[in-house]
Amino acid sequence: MNPFPLSKSQLEEIIQTYPTPFHIYDEKAIRLNARRLNKAFAWNPGFQEFFAVKAAPNPFLMKILKEEGFGADCSSMAELVLSQRVGLPGDKIMFTSNDTPSSEFVKANQLGAIVNLDDVSHIPFLEQNAGLPELVCFRYNPGPLKGGNSIIGKPEEAKYGFTRQQLFDGYKRLLDKGVKRFGIHTMVASNELNPQYFIDTADIMFDLINELTAKLGIVFEFVNIGGGIGIPYRPDQTAVDLELVGKGIEEIYKSKLGSTLNANLKIYMECGRMITGPYGWLVSRVLHIKDTYKKYVGLDACMANLMRPALYGAYHHITVPGKDDLPCTETYDVTGSLCENNDKFAIDRQLPALEPGDLVVIHDAGAHGHSMGFQYNGKLRSAELLLREDGSIVPIRRAETLDDYFATLDFDALESFK
Ligand SMILES: *Cc1c(COP(=O)(O)O)cnc(C)c1O
Repeated sequence: MNPFPLSKSQLEEIIQTYPTPFHIYDEKAIRLNARRLNKAFAWNPGFQEFFAVKAAPNPFLMKILKEEGFGADCSSMAELVLSQRVGLPGDKIMFTSNDTPSSEFVKANQLGAIVNLDDVSHIPFLEQNAGLPELVCFRYNPGPLKGGNSIIGKPEEAKYGFTRQQLFDGYKRLLDKGVKRFGIHTMVASNELNPQYFIDTADIMFDLINELTAKLGIVFEFVNIGGGIGIPYRPDQTAVDLELVGKGIEEIYKSKLGSTLNANLKIYMECGRMITGPYGWLVSRVLHIKDTYKKYVGLDACMANLMRPALYGAYHHITVPGKDDLPCTETYDVTGSLCENNDKFAIDRQLPALEPGDLVVIHDAGAHGHSMGFQYNGKLRSAELLLREDGSIVPIRRAETLDDYFATLDFDALESFK
């Protein structure tokens, strides 16, 4: 859990211009974090992180990450277009989709993106609808060969990827069709905090690559070991030691690939959560305090602004600027205003005594936060702000308005509708 970078008075000043609720991101912290990741893998000359756009699909954040050398990992038309709009070249765009419409393969090919296929049946689908690019990657699902983790579940029950046998068949088919360049990908964890998990994943992939090379004679340009690096949402958790992961993978890389045809293999990653998650906060204000069978704090934000607690029962730390030093004497459910009883940011949370008007900061909302927003119950998505390195505030997405909400309705047609 990362401390909130603004004082109560700084926050009150920002709110004069940008009313709550809003998400705010810390540019400096995001840049430092990006550099930490690049440094941990600096031993691998081709190392490339492709930021998982779905975590925070904001072009301003993507531009910052682009400046730090990151690419983008996309899985939809909108994410491909965002990557294009921030000026990423094709080789910095990874298209890891599943159940993919042909229009998205066409777009990915037009951008020169790296196409990562989710299924063996997508080889002819891609060939017929968009054409086979020179470089193709497959997503591997290790099934029972790799233990799962809590969010993504057991690999053999996940919808993603090729089986082991399908990989051998699939690369053979690519070879027969004249594809010249090859990559391989896997993504088996989500919000995983154990650094060894990522080292083990790389280990499995290096063995697999060696087998594929021995059997088919193909050399791999890269392995994408996916995203899924967790963040310490709870105060008692610790962040994944990136240096340890980098070093651990380096050792295995040297021993398993060093003297093989794959000695120049590039390591790719597509993390989202750990890149922006700890450096984004949802800022909200207390509207009501309610005391019935339990005590409730009602905020002006709701699960439309951050649905992880309702969706996964996820813990998000909550602090109250200006009341940081007060003892946590109260037990509250912290709620939003949806007509859904699971619209709660926290259940039975120990907090200082709150009152209407207090500001509340919900931590670790910088990834899979705003982006999961929705409009159920007529709720509007909030603004996104950026705290720049010089301390200034830049709006990087305005709040939605009622006009946005009604934009897909034709009220003139309603007039004449009988
Ligand atoms: C969601 C996703 C990611 C990013 O996951 P994080 O947990 O945010 O790191 C990366 N790759 C794929 C294919 C994904 O679906």
